[in-house]
Amino acid sequence: MTGLVLRNGRIDGGDPVDLLIDDGVVVQIGIGLTCDRSIDLEGRHVVPGLWDDHVHLSQHALAQHRVDVSAAGSASEAAAIMAAAAMVRPPEPGLPLVGVGFRDGLWPDSPTATVLNAVTGVLPTVLISADLHCCWLNTAALDRFGVGAHPTGILREDDAFRITESLRDVPESVLDGWVADAARTAASRGVVGVVDFEMADNLAVWSRRIAAGSNSLRIAAGIYTEHVDAAIAAGHRTGQIIPGTQGLLAVGPFKILIDGSLNTRTAFCVDEYPGLEGQHHSHGMLTVSPDALVPVLRRVSDAGLLPAVHAIGDDANRIALDAFETVGCRGRIEHAQLLRDADLPRFAALGVVASVQPEQAMDDRDVADRYWAGRTSRAFALRSLLDAGATVVLGSDAPVAPPDPWITIAAAVVRTRDGLEAWHPEQSITAVEAIAASAHGRYRVAAGDFADLCVVERDPLTATGSELRAMPVAATLIAGRFTHNSLTA
Ligand SMILES: [Zn+2]
Repeated sequence: MTGLVLRNGRIDGGDPVDLLIDDGVVVQIGIGLTCDRSIDLEGRHVVPGLWDDHVHLSQHALAQHRVDVSAAGSASEAAAIMAAAAMVRPPEPGLPLVGVGFRDGLWPDSPTATVLNAVTGVLPTVLISADLHCCWLNTAALDRFGVGAHPTGILREDDAFRITESLRDVPESVLDGWVADAARTAASRGVVGVVDFEMADNLAVWSRRIAAGSNSLRIAAGIYTEHVDAAIAAGHRTGQIIPGTQGLLAVGPFKILIDGSLNTRTAFCVDEYPGLEGQHHSHGMLTVSPDALVPVLRRVSDAGLLPAVHAIGDDANRIALDAFETVGCRGRIEHAQLLRDADLPRFAALGVVASVQPEQAMDDRDVADRYWAGRTSRAFALRSLLDAGATVVLGSDAPVAPPDPWITIAAAVVRTRDGLEAWHPEQSITAVEAIAASAHGRYRVAAGDFADLCVVERDPLTATGSELRAMPVAATLIAGRFTHNSLTA
């Protein structure tokens, strides 16, 4: 028989068994199975191939080639990192200097164009915040991107997204190569698929990349408002596989953002942000009104596209759930970071999936403690969501966090890193739950499953948080094909 036998793999911590794979499917699990080709797993652990349910892969690939300012503890420190980078690795003539990853929520000084001007001069300089919802420009960049005179040089939400999109100055072929590298790296961490929410015509982009040979990941291509008319006209429905892509490309959800983010203090909340009381946008920003949201959800869901609503603040989540209830359609809420207790059971009742990125809680715990003071027991509430019957899917939101599912799983299970005390450990979920939430509900590999598999060196059920975070991945397979393999035949 043709196919492949993975010998001596442990499933769910049990005794070693053989997995017979044929035609992309695990056809049999047992002892002493044989076929033409076999690989000895030597007692390693086999879990389902993992999904990263929320990424921006082009932004992630670009970030690997931009100046990393994530370590900056102040605006002046971030400016100094940019100035040093301009000396060591200046941008190509005519291109702006771009930094990524700043988190200004707890900085003692304010990021302003003036702070940047002092060290970057006439070199157009743009910094993109870690949460992607804010751009910080110097005066030369404000001119260059047509913003003109601006009081601070800090642009938020749609104004920031416009800048980020016009920064795609890398030739398509170069960017595709960088994305292919990032996809291979993700596969080496056990990822078999991603939901790509890049702000782009993702179906066209990924059709091109797959035709050019990219085959490390399955892609569910998110659709934004700009491309939804074309998608509906083409009859695309969420979940549909695009022909001629080796089964790798599927139509993803339709994505709409209705609020901002915690770090940018634009997540739309019931309560005001401490320190912003009485000011404009003191509750954050609702960027789409309920009256505007309902007809959009109705239209796309009638057309067979699953709506995915970005909502971070608790009032934005309430509004998103209200809209799903009014329309009567299923869908997803992306992030669902802060929730009212009363909204927890509504996810299951309405068939709305909570798509959460647990590592963001590790990055933002101090910011949350400050700006969501007194409310953090309701933040990243994975345990409460599961206990309320919700379907939860996990992801990284790369480049916000690395597209590494073991980092995501570790954050969900132990809610800490770097030796800190766990942050709201009562909201921890188990390794089984975290893997299932990263594998579309599967935890235990069974006969009849797609042979999307991840082979790891440690038992995830007994691994500590730091062992989970650094889990060595021996092999990853999509439909029985290795996308990463460190095993010898
Ligand atoms: Zn995102």
